[in-house]
Amino acid sequence: MSDAGVYMFQKAGKLISDINFKLKRKKKFISCKWLEHGIIFDHAKIIRVCCEQSHPGKGRYVLEDNFNGLWLDIDKVINEKKQLRNMIRTGHIPDCCIGCSFLKEDYWDDEDYFDEILLTHWTKCNAQCIYCPAVKDENLLDSQHYNIIPILSQLFDKGLISKKAKFSIAGGESTLYPEFEKLLYFLTDSGITNININSSGIRYSAAISDLISRNLAEIVISIDSSDAFIYNLIKNVDFFDVVIDNIKRYLKYEQISEERVIVKFILINSINDSITDVLHWFILCNSLGVKKLALDVDIDWYNKMRNDVPEYLKEIILFAKKIAEINNVHLDLYDRADMIYKSINKK
Ligand code: SF4
Ligand code: SF4
Repeated sequence: MSDAGVYMFQKAGKLISDINFKLKRKKKFISCKWLEHGIIFDHAKIIRVCCEQSHPGKGRYVLEDNFNGLWLDIDKVINEKKQLRNMIRTGHIPDCCIGCSFLKEDYWDDEDYFDEILLTHWTKCNAQCIYCPAVKDENLLDSQHYNIIPILSQLFDKGLISKKAKFSIAGGESTLYPEFEKLLYFLTDSGITNININSSGIRYSAAISDLISRNLAEIVISIDSSDAFIYNLIKNVDFFDVVIDNIKRYLKYEQISEERVIVKFILINSINDSITDVLHWFILCNSLGVKKLALDVDIDWYNKMRNDVPEYLKEIILFAKKIAEINNVHLDLYDRADMIYKSINKK
């Protein structure tokens, strides 16, 4: 064989080995976005992989259970995530993930970075919802606040946060975090364009409006009702009108083609669990000009009846889907509502 022939042969061999390497890496396997690239700064000094807990395994994998809130041992956290990901790559799913609807077969990469981040490291709130874990468990109310910005700086400085990352902020009440507005601008200054803010809607934030107007954030406000009477029963505070006014204020900043103000309804046993309740909520949101709605089911209620979901609850969820469709309104079904809906469609 001529020199040119040998050279071409070697080149072809290298090309084939590169293709094989890529094909080998690009193998589908079961995992989830949180297992791969998620992190949660939870209350009670805990760092987790996710906050899902509505499935049989009950989720909430712990990465660190005594975080001091001052300095993050990044190598340790990254190593733990890596071990977890390696385990998944050998076909072993953690027990706490069993039955979770987030698991799916896909091409997952092997890089170390975070792109799903939930900040929920404080429980202080200006409402007292009857379904709130922090209200039910007094120990959680003691959860100490720490400033999350220096911790996130550590991660950004090490290049561990993807520019496409989604940041969700919850609590407690997001707007009550002492560093809340600073945090929002810290994130946007760091290049983050996808911020999800969960709020009671009781305290207005000009920074949220600003980010809504620039399509950098969305706000989710759970009103669970269409009038002050039911609202007060659920929230244990008398701020229905304040919240409605604040929804209107945020909506003024939403661009015409955007859906950045999301109003949520959590179905609660014997309180707001009728088609009429959902219909009135729907009519109220429509009159306010809300373009995106979200529906969920109280987690404790769901956990008790998950194996025997009452027919009327399924009907409510189907009704909500139908009425949203007819009126061309975007309705997202959140965790429990989504699981119930999928279980109906499986039959
Ligand atoms: S599979 Fe479910 S429980 Fe497990 S990490 Fe993902 S979201 Fe959480
Ligand atoms: S608004 Fe959220 S954090 Fe506040 S009490 Fe209700 S569920 Fe809990």
